[in-house]
Amino acid sequence: MEDKRYHSVRLDPEKCKGCTNCLKRCPTEAIRVRAGRAHIIDERCIDCGECIRVCEYHAKYAQTDPLATINRFKYKIALPAPSLYGQFKKLANASQILEGLLHMGFDDVFEVAAGADIVTRAIRERMRGMSTDEFPLISSACPAITRLIQVRFPELISHIVDVRQPMEVAAMVAKREFCQKRGVAESEVGCFFITPCAAKMTAIRNPIGQEKSAVDGAISMLEIYGLLAGHLKNYPSELTLSKATSYGVGWANNGGEAVAVCPENSMAVDGIENVIRVLEEIENNKLRDLVFFEGAACTGGCVGGPLTFENGYIARGSIRALMKNSDLRHPDEVVKASYLTKYALQTTKKITPNSAMKLDDDIVEAMRKMEQLESIVKSLPGYDCGSCGSPTCRTFAEDIVRGHATKMDCIHILKDQLKIMAQKMVELAKTTRE
Ligand code: SF4
Ligand code: SF4
Repeated sequence: MEDKRYHSVRLDPEKCKGCTNCLKRCPTEAIRVRAGRAHIIDERCIDCGECIRVCEYHAKYAQTDPLATINRFKYKIALPAPSLYGQFKKLANASQILEGLLHMGFDDVFEVAAGADIVTRAIRERMRGMSTDEFPLISSACPAITRLIQVRFPELISHIVDVRQPMEVAAMVAKREFCQKRGVAESEVGCFFITPCAAKMTAIRNPIGQEKSAVDGAISMLEIYGLLAGHLKNYPSELTLSKATSYGVGWANNGGEAVAVCPENSMAVDGIENVIRVLEEIENNKLRDLVFFEGAACTGGCVGGPLTFENGYIARGSIRALMKNSDLRHPDEVVKASYLTKYALQTTKKITPNSAMKLDDDIVEAMRKMEQLESIVKSLPGYDCGSCGSPTCRTFAEDIVRGHATKMDCIHILKDQLKIMAQKMVELAKTTRE
């Protein structure tokens, strides 16, 4: 079952020095530093992993499932993310990786890139029946971006693609095909995603757009890298296990999905701040001709995920090289139409706005609090220095309104108050002497 409070991104309070580095980088203002330690406001966190990247003390980390978790199931299927292929330089073909995973103890493998092929065809079919006012369609492939939209751009929720993510589709197909092939019960089979990021782990435990994930766990690419690299050396390069098209493999890089789904009038943007800028433009109706938008929280796309091993730029090049060696046909030619009817590919649960940014559910009360907030903002120095433990003076004012901080937490106000008090004491001493 889903756990609405689950977040993969965690803080190790022992390692946190309260340096405020992460404070300014969080795109949803979900971090505060109080009493010398950071803490994450769960309702606002979108698991983008930005704070993991910037923390010099490794106090932020992504919780994933340990490899031993696969032993909960009698039969284990590995679902490698396309970005896993980019972690190995000069890979002759993706089959080497799939064979390596089998030798590591998995009973079967199903490429998430093949899931991406199915999703590509399903989205294209969906788009055929859509009216122009439903565009631009916004990719749901990066769960951090979907959550960002829930928190900061609720008006764009209706534009989010309503087809399940490739890892979900891969898990559904892999499980059913394995059970049919081996004549075993679904409850005996576990599907494990090899993840480049915390956002996907959270999407499994706390799914968006569906009640329950078809994926049973996520293993970090960093954890599996060394073991897998050892196994890769032993296999010939002419294996043919990989069935994904070059388009499916290309989903690893930012822009790969857009090229596959909608080669014309699409836009692909990476890096959470850049994505925010484009979403603002979409919200303000400035990109009227745009049909499809693919946003990735990580630089370069999933190859730049916080749990990847290889430098994202090198991995991007490796993916491009691998694409040339893969099936060059478009998923429309390769994916059988029966997949679109045999599997429930559409999401089943409405995506709703995340009200964590709202001051109050009651509109009158919210307006009163907003007035209070504006008046506090005017009385603050406006340096946005973060020394109060909030990312900006405005969020500090918001924290005061919510009762989570007091004006005296601002070091500049405190200094001014101390100066006034000292002045008063001097004057008092003078009057007493006279
Ligand atoms: S994971 Fe992203 S949203 Fe969550 S606290 Fe870190 S930077 Fe903020
Ligand atoms: S871009 Fe890819 S790796 Fe990065 S958070 Fe989104 S899904 Fe995860």
